[in-house]
Formats: sequence, C-alpha cells, structure tokens
Amino acid sequence: MNLIFLGPPGSGKGTQAIRIAEKFGLVHLSTGDLLREAVKAKTELGQQAEGFMSRGDLVPDDLIIGLIEEIVDSGELANGFILDGFPRTIKQAESLQEMLSRHSIKTDHVILLKVSDAVIAERIKGRAKAEGRSDDTQKIVLNRLAVYVEQTEPIVEFYRNESLIKEIEGEAAPEEVFERIVSAVS
Ligand code: AMP
Repeated sequence: MNLIFLGPPGSGKGTQAIRIAEKFGLVHLSTGDLLREAVKAKTELGQQAEGFMSRGDLVPDDLIIGLIEEIVDSGELANGFILDGFPRTIKQAESLQEMLSRHSIKTDHVILLKVSDAVIAERIKGRAKAEGRSDDTQKIVLNRLAVYVEQTEPIVEFYRNESLIKEIEGEAAPEEVFERIVSAVS
C-alpha cells in the first residue's frame, strides 16, 4: 500500500504517519525529518535548507525533488510507503507522479487530515514548548500556516481530480483519528 499524508502543520500528520506505517509495515518517509537530519549533519543539502526551514518557508522544489527522486530510484519504497510532508507544492506533486509512474508505482490513497486553525495554533504552541523547536515560535507558525494555504493546499484539488483524497477529521483523540485512517485505507 502506498499512501501520501497531507495536512497543515500541527494536524497530527507526523504522529499518525508513524503509527500507520508501523501497523501496515510501510516505509515512513518524512522530508521534514530528513531535512532536520541534514541540517544537524551539516551536509550540503542541510546548509542549503537551513535558512528556509528556520523562517518556516519551503525549501526550493529542486532540492527536495532531487532528494525524493534518489529514494524512489533506489527501490527503497517498493514494498509500500507513507510520504509525510511531501509533496508540498503542485510542482512536487507533478514530479512525484512522473517518478512513480516511471517505476510503475501507484498511489493508493491521499490522507487529508482536517483541523481548524485555532486547534493548529494551540497544538503547535504546545509542541514548541515540549521540543524547543526553533522553527515553531509563534511568528514562524503563522508563516508555516500561510505557506500551507498558499502552496500546499492547491494539491488537494490535484489529488481530488485523481479521486485519491480521503478526508479525515483530525480534531478527535489521536487513537480515534488513527482508527478513522485505518478504516479509510482498509
Ligand atoms: P515538517 O517537519 O514536515 O513540518 O517540515 C519542516 C520544514 O522542512 C518545513 O517547514 C520546510 O521548511 C521543510 N520541508 C519539509 N518538507 C518539505 C517539502 N516537501 N518541500 C519543501 N520544504 C519542505
């Protein structure tokens, strides 16, 4: 099974992606995690990405598409995957479709976690405190939300046209949201 997880920052996307990957034995690929590791390791990618990330902006498409292309071409995703945090722009979605079809890989479902802005703001504030994440200060949170609305939300329509979108109400308790996702993909 091949899944894409979509949702605003603070929607619980990362947490649910990890749990669903574990339940179904899928590779969990978080571009945010990959980028944070690259920044920590001070790789070239990390150095290029760091400024964008600290402002809450997206890193340029070319950087992230190259990264995903290497992973797709490596065959690492052949036994099922969850993409968490990618694609985030129409250009990324189109590139992904091209890469996957080159390998005859189909996306089965795109899980869209729906959460109101007020709940997102509360959750992200809590996470910033708990993790001390420098990209989660209030001003940057607002920018991340704006970036999501402007650049990422349009891909919902892209996948709706492919009849892949499964909308999940994400404000319930994590266990309940998990069960909803499981039934949506089963
Ligand atoms: P995340 O943990 O998914 O919220 O990602 C953290 C940060 O990494 C984002 O705010 C972006 O700066 C960057 N990032 C992660 N995934 C992507 C992507 N697909 N395209 C561009 N930037 C990304």
